[in-house]
Order: sequence, then C-alpha cells, then structure tokens
Amino acid sequence: MSNKTIIPNSPIYSDGRKPLQELYETYSKLVGTGWREEIIFHQTGIFNWAIFCLSKLFPDKVPITKYSYSFPIVAYFSKESSLDGIMVGGIHGRESSPPTAFAESIDLLVEYGYSLSLCVIPLANPWGYFYNKRHSPNGKSVGDADYFFGKRRVPASPESYSLLRYLSEQKIEKGTPVLDLHEDLVGELLVPPWVKNLDESGTYFYATGEDIRKNPLVIAVKEILESNGVPFLHTHTTRFKQKCEEGIVYDAADFSVDHFLRHLGCSPVITTEIFLPSPITPSIEDRNQINRQLMKLFLDYCLSLKERTN
Ligand SMILES: [Zn+2]
Repeated sequence: MSNKTIIPNSPIYSDGRKPLQELYETYSKLVGTGWREEIIFHQTGIFNWAIFCLSKLFPDKVPITKYSYSFPIVAYFSKESSLDGIMVGGIHGRESSPPTAFAESIDLLVEYGYSLSLCVIPLANPWGYFYNKRHSPNGKSVGDADYFFGKRRVPASPESYSLLRYLSEQKIEKGTPVLDLHEDLVGELLVPPWVKNLDESGTYFYATGEDIRKNPLVIAVKEILESNGVPFLHTHTTRFKQKCEEGIVYDAADFSVDHFLRHLGCSPVITTEIFLPSPITPSIEDRNQINRQLMKLFLDYCLSLKERTN
C-alpha cells in the first residue's frame, strides 16, 4: 500500500471488532502469497479541525487530501484470469463481523486462491467501520447502484461510483458467483423499543440468479444460517418490506451493488443478513464462526463449478 496512506490507530471497540490497522496487516498477507492488491478508492477522515478549516479557506495551499487520514478500499486478486468468485464484506460500517471474519479466513483464502481466481473486497467501507457508521462520510451508501441503473443523475457517493465502476471493469463471466456478507443490526433502528418487534426479526438472505430456487449454494447457505442458533426469519417480509419466503428474498431488484453484479452476469449472488438484536448479541466470535463457514461453503461451491467446467 502507498506510504502516503495514514491509517489512524483504532480505539478499543466495545463490540469486539478488530482494529483497522490489524485488519489491513492481516489482509496484506495475501499479497505475500502472490495475490495482487488494488486500491479502489481512498476514503478520507479529518485528523485536525484547524487544518480542516484552513483547507476550506486555502484549498490550494492546504490540500485536504494531504492532511487527512486515509481509509483505502482495497480489492485483492488471487489470479489474473476470469473470476471464479467475488467476495465482499463491510459495505455497512456498523456490521463488524464480516471484515473480521475475512481476516480470520486468510489461510483459507490463500489455500483456495491457488486453484481459484478470486476477487475479495473484505472491507468496502473502512471509514464506516472505523467510526461505526453505516454509510460513507456523505451519509450515502457505499454500494448504491441507482446512478448505474439510470435512477439518479449523480452517484450517491464517491465510494459507490468508484466501487461499481471498478467492478464493472473486472473479468466477470456469466455465472460468476458472489458472496456479500452483511448483518441485520435491528438495534440501529431509530424507533422506540415498544415499536420494534424482535419476534418478527431474524436471519435471512438474498439470492439472485439463474434458476435460483434450485441452486445448491442457496440450499446450503440456508442450512448453515438455520442451524447456528440465531433466530431465522420465517415471516413474509423483511424490515425493508421485501417479500421473503422461508428466510430467502429471491431476485431482489433493490439497485444495490449485488443487484448490479447480477446485472453484470454474476450468478448466484448471495447476500447474507445475520440477525443482530444488539451490536454484541450474538457475540462477534459466534458471528465470525458463521461467516467463516459461509466463506468455506462458497469457496467449495466455486471450486466444484470450476472442476465441472474444466
Ligand atoms: Zn448491511
């Protein structure tokens, strides 16, 4: 990574997430085993308000980018050939387990990276992770694809523009599988506790793609999510009012990064949402374990596809 990058020291997080520097250090072990890293975008954070004010007054003399913390969004590639799988984590900064689970799965990624051409973006919103914010610094989603579907005249955020344009330039084949790990932090809803009905909440996932209802990965993901002790969603809608069948939202056209990847030809596109009634329930260790299982399952699926086509 560029030596101009200044990554701040993380505070100690009460929800057990790993410090940002430790995550970057762990991810960079991939590079030591032959993977390539590419910086998609530098998110910036202010470390000195006096400098920030001066930069507003004298942008030429005090360029803000020179006096800011940098939070690089990094993609890691195991090979140069067409992609056998894409894995994403951390689009929403408050969902702490996926970026940590990627760090804990480095050896697994190294192992599968010898056989598979993988693109891994483990921390898609490092600024949000650091400051525990859902979205990017401008308050909009890092994965908003409205602009690319012609629904918005300008991109929602610089991050979403860079991330989606970047993905559209990758060697994606028709049928490249995607795994995007999320958590459904119901506790972040700004509604009084008596309005929240946690009995009607639970873990669920999105599944999009070719012949999706019969896809073996979809069936296996459901098995893992249903059998880990976290309540599984059996109602007919998610909290975003999407139609849900036995914990699965099929073929959602929600103008997200996953919808966009499907539009680029990816299939199946799986987006998991582990239920979090609070940021520490279930514990991050338990959620990391589920996410590690999902990654292993996904990598095995990618490998079986590759072996079948060779
Ligand atoms: Zn999320």
